[in-house]
Amino acid sequence: MAKKYYELSPDERLALLQLSDQDKSAWHDNQSDNNTQIVENYITDFRLPMGILQDIIVNGHQVSVPMAIEEPSVIAAANNGAKMLNAGGGVQVVLPKRSALTGQLLFTNIDFDTINQFVLTHQKILFECAKQSKPSIYKRGGGLLSVVTRRITDSDVSVDFTIDTKDAMGANIVNTILEAETTIFSDFKNQFIGAILSNYAIDQLVTVTGRVPFANVGGQQVAEKIVSLSKFSKHDIYRATTENKGLFNGLSAVVMATGNDWRAVEASGHAYASHNGQYQSLTTWSIKNDYLQGELTLPISVGTVGGAISAMPQAQRALRMMAVETADQLRGIILAVGLAQNLAALKAIVAGGIQQGHMKMQYRALAIQVGATIAEVQTLVTKLRALKQVDTEIAKKILMEMRDESKN
Ligand code: NDP
Repeated sequence: MAKKYYELSPDERLALLQLSDQDKSAWHDNQSDNNTQIVENYITDFRLPMGILQDIIVNGHQVSVPMAIEEPSVIAAANNGAKMLNAGGGVQVVLPKRSALTGQLLFTNIDFDTINQFVLTHQKILFECAKQSKPSIYKRGGGLLSVVTRRITDSDVSVDFTIDTKDAMGANIVNTILEAETTIFSDFKNQFIGAILSNYAIDQLVTVTGRVPFANVGGQQVAEKIVSLSKFSKHDIYRATTENKGLFNGLSAVVMATGNDWRAVEASGHAYASHNGQYQSLTTWSIKNDYLQGELTLPISVGTVGGAISAMPQAQRALRMMAVETADQLRGIILAVGLAQNLAALKAIVAGGIQQGHMKMQYRALAIQVGATIAEVQTLVTKLRALKQVDTEIAKKILMEMRDESKN
């Protein structure tokens, strides 16, 4: 009997695709046995560049942070932002007393008081069930912290389970516990819709703060403009969206480099950005005692074990390099990078425009795009940087001129 598609080997799948022999061979060469086991219908690895934020001070410790991202200029900007924050003593981290993730049992066409009463009178059984369904998390000091009923509409109710998943991001842990808990709600099976974790990680709210002496940010006037820009993004969704995107440039690059689920982090962050009814930037900048002061608060669900982290050696290397062992340590570093990234972006906008620095970094990618060899890239980039205006046509023309010159 013919194999099902998912039973084929990566090369057998490649053979079925409309690809040139050259592309097939390139994808074959880029396969890794390890990653074959991670996703379904695997054909090859997709690589991203990884660079380093060389030095950021987090809670008094210097850390070098790996960042995996395809966008030029992000890592340079993160280094720049970190340098400014380091001049003010670095970034301080405030963690929640106990981090936890929420899981939901969802019910419809149900009377709130009835199910609320059920949850109140079955607390002991609900806690015992959590323990039975995931004993290993209890051995590590985690487990179910609370079960409460939350009214969604007149007829919809969520029963929220708050679960400490220790150093794991916790999606699977929470889902395992939730699915066991559903059996206790058999009286309500007709009203039961489903069980799933929530990515709104409000019990993992982390705050980082940092300050920069005026001199290190380019003077008081620049600092004041950064504050004005920050205020703007509290009132204007256009500005807030872009500001948060810039923040996630840095934040998600660290989340990626450590093998964490960046969709979960971004979903939670964007939800929190509108927690007071209006979508706003997640960072706040103000002036205090001749310093530009920054603050970032974000609910962030990441791990140092579990998920792909434990299956991807590159993620484990990244964590070892930072000497990170706990999820809480990682949360602090990720947010510190986010604050640095945001500061660099705001400074670039108020002091000269973002394109100046951005496009110069983009020229390397442009050089590759127009066909420059690795040996030609640096010369072409130097020539492009000397020009006032650059586009693909101009880059191609200069590359051709370079090649003509080298022939003569
Ligand atoms: P895992 O299912 O891999 O669970 C983590 C496991 O790590 C634990 O069960 C435990 O294994 C082990 N472990 C070892 N040391 C520790 C420690 N110190 N603290 C806690 N656990 C430890 O991963 P998660 O539950 O973290 O789930 C994350 C994955 O789920 C990610 O890949 C994510 O993308 C994915 N996911 C995300 C969803 C979402 O965000 N909506 C939905 C579904 C999946 P043991 O019990 O064997 O001891």
